[in-house]
Amino acid sequence: MIFDMKKDILLDISNVTVSFEGFLALKQLNLSLKQGELRAVIGPNGAGKTTFLDVITGKVKPTSGDVFFKGKSLIGKKEHKIARIGVGRKFQSPRIFENLTVEKNLEIAVSQYSSPLKIIANKPSIEKTEEVKKLLKIINLSKQYDLEAGSLSHGQKQWLEIAMLLGQKPSLMLIDEPVAGLTDEETELTADLLKSLSGENTIIVIDHDMEFIRRLESNVTVLNQGSVLCEGSMDQIQNDPKVIEVYLGKKVSL
Ligand code: ADP
Ligand code: MG
Repeated sequence: MIFDMKKDILLDISNVTVSFEGFLALKQLNLSLKQGELRAVIGPNGAGKTTFLDVITGKVKPTSGDVFFKGKSLIGKKEHKIARIGVGRKFQSPRIFENLTVEKNLEIAVSQYSSPLKIIANKPSIEKTEEVKKLLKIINLSKQYDLEAGSLSHGQKQWLEIAMLLGQKPSLMLIDEPVAGLTDEETELTADLLKSLSGENTIIVIDHDMEFIRRLESNVTVLNQGSVLCEGSMDQIQNDPKVIEVYLGKKVSL
Protein backbone atom coordinates (compact mmCIF):
# COMPACT_ATOMS: atom_id res chain seq x y z
CA MET A 1 0.00 0.00 0.00
CA ILE A 2 1.25 3.45 -0.84
CA PHE A 3 0.96 5.78 2.10
CA ASP A 4 0.09 9.28 0.92
CA MET A 5 1.15 11.70 3.63
CA LYS A 6 -0.34 14.67 1.83
CA LYS A 7 -3.70 13.02 1.33
CA ASP A 8 -5.61 14.76 4.06
CA ILE A 9 -3.98 18.16 3.64
CA LEU A 10 -6.72 20.60 2.58
CA LEU A 11 -4.70 23.79 2.43
CA ASP A 12 -1.00 24.12 1.80
CA ILE A 13 0.61 27.53 1.77
CA SER A 14 4.12 27.31 0.44
CA ASN A 15 6.75 30.05 0.74
CA VAL A 16 4.26 32.85 0.18
CA THR A 17 5.64 36.37 0.03
CA VAL A 18 3.46 39.45 -0.42
CA SER A 19 5.04 42.77 -1.21
CA PHE A 20 3.07 46.01 -1.02
CA GLU A 21 5.26 48.36 -3.04
CA GLY A 22 8.38 46.88 -1.47
CA PHE A 23 7.00 46.38 2.04
CA LEU A 24 6.83 42.66 2.82
CA ALA A 25 3.52 41.96 4.55
CA LEU A 26 4.18 38.20 4.26
CA LYS A 27 7.66 36.69 4.05
CA GLN A 28 8.14 33.12 2.91
CA LEU A 29 5.08 32.02 4.83
CA ASN A 30 4.45 28.29 5.18
CA LEU A 31 1.36 26.77 6.68
CA SER A 32 -0.60 23.63 6.04
CA LEU A 33 -3.93 22.56 7.34
CA LYS A 34 -5.52 19.14 7.57
CA GLN A 35 -9.05 18.30 6.58
CA GLY A 36 -11.26 18.80 9.65
CA GLU A 37 -8.69 20.81 11.54
CA LEU A 38 -9.48 23.86 13.63
CA ARG A 39 -6.51 26.25 13.57
CA ALA A 40 -6.11 29.47 15.49
CA VAL A 41 -3.86 32.16 14.06
CA ILE A 42 -2.64 34.88 16.38
CA GLY A 43 -0.03 37.60 16.18
CA PRO A 44 0.49 41.26 17.01
CA ASN A 45 -1.05 44.03 14.94
CA GLY A 46 0.56 44.25 11.54
CA ALA A 47 1.80 40.63 11.71
CA GLY A 48 0.10 39.86 8.40
CA LYS A 49 -2.98 37.97 9.61
CA THR A 50 -5.50 39.72 7.39
CA THR A 51 -3.12 39.61 4.41
CA PHE A 52 -2.77 35.87 5.01
CA LEU A 53 -6.56 35.45 4.69
CA ASP A 54 -6.61 37.79 1.68
CA VAL A 55 -4.09 35.54 -0.07
CA ILE A 56 -6.23 32.44 0.49
CA THR A 57 -9.40 34.13 -0.79
CA GLY A 58 -7.61 35.56 -3.83
CA LYS A 59 -8.03 39.19 -2.80
CA VAL A 60 -4.26 39.66 -2.63
CA LYS A 61 -1.90 38.07 -5.11
CA PRO A 62 1.38 36.74 -3.70
CA THR A 63 4.60 38.12 -5.14
CA SER A 64 6.02 34.62 -4.92
CA GLY A 65 5.09 31.24 -3.52
CA ASP A 66 2.01 29.10 -3.97
CA VAL A 67 -1.29 28.25 -2.31
CA PHE A 68 -2.70 24.76 -2.80
CA PHE A 69 -6.28 23.99 -1.94
CA LYS A 70 -7.53 20.42 -2.40
CA GLY A 71 -4.23 19.78 -4.15
CA LYS A 72 -4.65 22.50 -6.78
CA SER A 73 -3.00 25.90 -6.98
CA LEU A 74 -5.23 28.90 -6.26
CA ILE A 75 -2.76 31.33 -7.80
CA GLY A 76 -4.32 33.37 -10.56
CA LYS A 77 -7.89 32.35 -9.68
CA LYS A 78 -10.46 35.12 -9.15
CA GLU A 79 -12.08 35.64 -5.74
CA HIS A 80 -15.54 34.43 -6.77
CA LYS A 81 -14.02 31.30 -8.30
CA ILE A 82 -12.13 30.52 -5.11
CA ALA A 83 -15.35 31.01 -3.14
CA ARG A 84 -17.13 28.60 -5.50
CA ILE A 85 -14.56 25.89 -5.00
CA GLY A 86 -15.14 26.02 -1.28
CA VAL A 87 -13.35 28.84 0.54
CA GLY A 88 -15.82 30.74 2.72
CA ARG A 89 -14.98 33.81 4.76
CA LYS A 90 -16.57 35.58 7.64
CA PHE A 91 -15.49 39.16 8.12
CA GLN A 92 -15.04 40.82 11.48
CA SER A 93 -18.29 42.82 11.53
CA PRO A 94 -21.44 40.81 10.89
CA ARG A 95 -22.82 41.11 7.37
CA ILE A 96 -26.36 39.98 7.92
CA PHE A 97 -29.66 41.34 6.63
CA GLU A 98 -30.75 43.31 9.70
CA ASN A 99 -34.33 43.86 8.52
CA LEU A 100 -35.01 40.23 7.72
CA THR A 101 -35.79 37.51 10.24
CA VAL A 102 -33.14 35.16 11.51
CA GLU A 103 -34.80 32.38 9.53
CA LYS A 104 -34.83 34.35 6.25
CA ASN A 105 -31.15 35.16 6.66
CA LEU A 106 -30.41 31.45 6.89
CA GLU A 107 -32.70 30.63 3.97
CA ILE A 108 -30.68 33.04 1.85
CA ALA A 109 -27.44 31.40 3.00
CA VAL A 110 -28.53 27.85 2.20
CA SER A 111 -29.89 28.92 -1.20
CA GLN A 112 -26.74 30.69 -2.21
CA TYR A 113 -27.23 30.47 -5.96
CA SER A 114 -30.78 31.82 -6.17
CA SER A 115 -31.68 35.47 -5.87
CA PRO A 116 -32.33 36.82 -2.33
CA LEU A 117 -35.45 38.62 -3.58
CA LYS A 118 -36.97 35.35 -4.74
CA ILE A 119 -36.19 33.74 -1.40
CA ILE A 120 -37.84 36.57 0.51
CA ALA A 121 -41.02 36.29 -1.57
CA ASN A 122 -41.31 32.49 -1.67
CA LYS A 123 -41.52 29.60 0.73
CA PRO A 124 -38.36 27.48 0.70
CA SER A 125 -38.39 23.77 -0.11
CA ILE A 126 -38.84 21.24 2.69
CA GLU A 127 -35.20 20.30 2.30
CA LYS A 128 -34.03 23.90 2.75
CA THR A 129 -36.39 24.39 5.69
CA GLU A 130 -34.81 21.37 7.38
CA GLU A 131 -31.33 22.73 6.75
CA VAL A 132 -32.32 26.06 8.29
CA LYS A 133 -33.78 24.30 11.35
CA LYS A 134 -30.55 22.40 11.81
CA LEU A 135 -28.51 25.61 11.59
CA LEU A 136 -30.81 27.38 14.08
CA LYS A 137 -30.24 24.52 16.50
CA ILE A 138 -26.46 24.59 16.08
CA ILE A 139 -26.32 28.27 17.04
CA ASN A 140 -29.02 27.90 19.70
CA LEU A 141 -31.36 30.43 18.08
CA SER A 142 -34.32 28.14 17.35
CA LYS A 143 -36.61 30.25 19.54
CA GLN A 144 -35.49 33.47 17.87
CA TYR A 145 -36.18 32.28 14.33
CA ASP A 146 -38.87 34.90 13.72
CA LEU A 147 -37.03 37.89 15.18
CA GLU A 148 -35.50 40.55 12.98
CA ALA A 149 -31.79 39.83 12.82
CA GLY A 150 -31.12 43.45 13.74
CA SER A 151 -32.65 42.92 17.16
CA LEU A 152 -30.19 40.15 18.13
CA SER A 153 -27.32 40.74 20.55
CA HIS A 154 -23.88 41.27 19.04
CA GLY A 155 -22.92 37.71 19.97
CA GLN A 156 -26.07 36.24 18.44
CA LYS A 157 -25.38 38.19 15.24
CA GLN A 158 -21.91 36.67 15.09
CA TRP A 159 -23.37 33.18 15.52
CA LEU A 160 -25.97 33.86 12.88
CA GLU A 161 -23.24 34.82 10.48
CA ILE A 162 -21.22 31.73 11.35
CA ALA A 163 -24.35 29.67 10.62
CA MET A 164 -24.82 31.54 7.32
CA LEU A 165 -21.27 30.67 6.37
CA LEU A 166 -21.88 27.06 7.41
CA GLY A 167 -25.06 27.01 5.33
CA GLN A 168 -22.99 27.66 2.22
CA LYS A 169 -21.15 24.39 2.96
CA PRO A 170 -17.62 25.64 2.34
CA SER A 171 -14.73 23.17 2.52
CA LEU A 172 -12.71 25.76 4.41
CA MET A 173 -14.08 28.43 6.75
CA LEU A 174 -12.01 31.54 7.40
CA ILE A 175 -13.20 33.46 10.45
CA ASP A 176 -11.73 36.86 11.29
CA GLU A 177 -11.93 38.04 14.93
CA PRO A 178 -15.31 36.56 15.88
CA VAL A 179 -15.25 37.58 19.53
CA ALA A 180 -14.21 41.24 19.33
CA GLY A 181 -16.77 43.16 21.41
CA LEU A 182 -18.49 40.06 22.79
CA THR A 183 -19.24 39.44 26.47
CA ASP A 184 -17.19 36.80 28.30
CA GLU A 185 -20.08 34.37 28.18
CA GLU A 186 -20.66 34.96 24.46
CA THR A 187 -16.93 34.49 23.89
CA GLU A 188 -16.98 31.11 25.64
CA LEU A 189 -20.03 30.00 23.69
CA THR A 190 -18.37 31.06 20.42
CA ALA A 191 -15.29 28.98 21.25
CA ASP A 192 -17.48 25.98 22.08
CA LEU A 193 -19.43 26.47 18.85
CA LEU A 194 -16.29 26.53 16.68
CA LYS A 195 -14.85 23.55 18.56
CA SER A 196 -18.00 21.57 17.94
CA LEU A 197 -17.89 22.42 14.22
CA SER A 198 -14.33 21.17 13.76
CA GLY A 199 -13.88 17.65 12.51
CA GLU A 200 -16.75 17.98 10.07
CA ASN A 201 -15.51 21.41 9.04
CA THR A 202 -12.06 22.83 8.48
CA ILE A 203 -11.69 26.21 10.13
CA ILE A 204 -9.07 28.93 10.43
CA VAL A 205 -9.88 31.47 13.09
CA ILE A 206 -7.96 34.66 13.73
CA ASP A 207 -8.18 36.40 17.07
CA HIS A 208 -6.38 38.31 19.81
CA ASP A 209 -8.36 37.02 22.77
CA MET A 210 -6.12 34.47 24.49
CA GLU A 211 -8.83 33.03 26.74
CA PHE A 212 -10.91 32.41 23.63
CA ILE A 213 -7.99 30.79 21.78
CA ARG A 214 -7.17 28.59 24.75
CA ARG A 215 -10.75 27.37 24.93
CA LEU A 216 -10.61 26.25 21.29
CA GLU A 217 -8.03 23.61 22.33
CA SER A 218 -6.65 23.74 18.80
CA ASN A 219 -3.25 24.09 17.24
CA VAL A 220 -2.11 27.69 17.27
CA THR A 221 0.05 29.43 14.69
CA VAL A 222 1.79 32.61 15.79
CA LEU A 223 2.52 35.08 13.01
CA ASN A 224 5.03 37.85 13.40
CA GLN A 225 6.33 40.25 10.76
CA GLY A 226 4.84 38.20 7.98
CA SER A 227 6.27 34.82 8.96
CA VAL A 228 5.38 31.93 11.22
CA LEU A 229 7.08 32.49 14.55
CA CYS A 230 5.97 29.18 16.00
CA GLU A 231 3.23 26.61 15.96
CA GLY A 232 1.82 24.25 18.57
CA SER A 233 -0.69 23.86 21.35
CA MET A 234 -1.49 26.88 23.51
CA ASP A 235 0.68 25.41 26.28
CA GLN A 236 3.59 24.96 23.89
CA ILE A 237 3.45 28.44 22.43
CA GLN A 238 2.95 30.22 25.73
CA ASN A 239 6.26 28.78 26.91
CA ASP A 240 8.11 29.63 23.72
CA PRO A 241 10.68 32.36 24.43
CA LYS A 242 10.18 33.83 20.92
CA VAL A 243 6.48 34.32 21.59
CA ILE A 244 7.04 35.80 25.02
CA GLU A 245 9.51 38.26 23.50
CA VAL A 246 7.09 39.36 20.77
CA TYR A 247 4.25 39.88 23.22
CA LEU A 248 6.37 41.41 25.97
CA GLY A 249 5.33 44.94 26.77
CA LYS A 250 2.05 44.48 24.95
CA LYS A 251 0.35 43.30 28.13
CA VAL A 252 -1.04 40.26 26.43
CA SER A 253 -0.98 37.47 28.99
CA LEU A 254 -0.65 34.14 27.30
P1 ADP B 1 -2.74 42.13 10.77
O1 ADP B 1 -4.05 41.73 10.23
O2 ADP B 1 -1.94 41.03 11.36
O3 ADP B 1 -2.85 43.27 11.73
P2 ADP B 1 -2.22 43.01 8.04
O4 ADP B 1 -2.19 41.76 7.25
O5 ADP B 1 -3.44 43.82 7.99
O6 ADP B 1 -1.84 42.69 9.56
O7 ADP B 1 -1.00 43.92 7.59
C1 ADP B 1 0.35 43.49 7.57
C2 ADP B 1 1.23 44.67 7.18
O8 ADP B 1 1.01 44.98 5.82
C3 ADP B 1 0.94 45.93 7.98
O9 ADP B 1 2.18 46.58 8.24
C4 ADP B 1 0.09 46.74 7.05
O10 ADP B 1 0.26 48.12 7.28
C5 ADP B 1 0.62 46.33 5.69
N1 ADP B 1 -0.42 46.39 4.64
C6 ADP B 1 -1.57 45.69 4.63
N2 ADP B 1 -2.28 45.95 3.50
C7 ADP B 1 -1.55 46.85 2.79
C8 ADP B 1 -1.72 47.51 1.51
N3 ADP B 1 -2.79 47.29 0.76
N4 ADP B 1 -0.75 48.35 1.11
C9 ADP B 1 0.34 48.56 1.88
N5 ADP B 1 0.58 47.97 3.06
C10 ADP B 1 -0.35 47.13 3.52
MG1 MG C 1 -6.02 42.38 10.59
